[in-house]
Amino acid sequence: MTQLQKPAVAYMKGRLIPWDQATLHIGCEAVTRGRNVFEGLKGYWQPDGQFKIIMMRQHYERLKRSARLLHIPCEYSFEEYRDAINQLIGALLTPDRDMWVRTTLFVTEGHWGENTVADLVLTAYHQDRATPRSIRIGVSTWRRSSDIALPARIKTGSNYQVSLLARLEGKSRDYEDMVLLNQSGRVAEATASCILMVRGDTIVTPPATEGALESITLDIVESLAQSLGVEFIRRPIDRTELLVADELGVCGTLHEVTLVTSIDEYTLPEKSPILGAIQQRYLEAVRGTNPHPVIEFTGIPSAMAGR
Ligand code: PMP
Repeated sequence: MTQLQKPAVAYMKGRLIPWDQATLHIGCEAVTRGRNVFEGLKGYWQPDGQFKIIMMRQHYERLKRSARLLHIPCEYSFEEYRDAINQLIGALLTPDRDMWVRTTLFVTEGHWGENTVADLVLTAYHQDRATPRSIRIGVSTWRRSSDIALPARIKTGSNYQVSLLARLEGKSRDYEDMVLLNQSGRVAEATASCILMVRGDTIVTPPATEGALESITLDIVESLAQSLGVEFIRRPIDRTELLVADELGVCGTLHEVTLVTSIDEYTLPEKSPILGAIQQRYLEAVRGTNPHPVIEFTGIPSAMAGR
């Protein structure tokens, strides 16, 4: 499990720091009011022996949008963001495993939004290089909050309280992930990924206005679908539509493209020809075995990798 790893170092206050010393003060707003915004990025070893992060600029831009909405100043340029990630990855990278990096702006100074100062804090974790295992999911009784409560568009830790409730609920029912409905009872997203539903020959996903994060992976999947000649549309999805779907999946930076075998007590058809093809194409693209122009790579300078 990603969260259980305890890497040797983290990045904080502009430098690498031993894991046990990477702490926040109990009085800061990151702790007292959960003031933070974050991004999860993934990096893959490439066939030419280089290690590359995908979609770094898109993650940086979304981090800035989340920060802007929560009035958290982001004093870091893209180059500073990139160099911080490169430093941490350079220190932790091993030859046989991919990595997931969490980049967080924690509010370390200020009070109720005044005189706010935020620190860029990074942690990185090793990941196995495997095709994601298919999962059983359920529909949660918990709901994604609306845009006038805690907007899904803001990627802040607080938003994951509901995801956590849903996951614990799912665990008690033996599901591996859960779908969150929005305040109108339509499909929003899963606890940390977006929904992919196939009906007929078309991939359908709810638009962000239904309460989903503006997902970077979803944009990738849209481009891959277009290249494979598969129609991809964004429109509202009813709960019962999920139950009669021809194929279901979830997608996100960490989940990549994961297929779903059942939802609540409904078993999906055994084969997932469309999402299976998307999954395979996605993995080929991010691992560079069959590149696709939609994937933007940022390499770790060789001086840093493998230090
Ligand atoms: N929804 C939620 C709630 C998420 O946490 C994530 C993961 N960041 C996603 C969707 C997928 O977003 P992305 O494809 O940008 O990783």
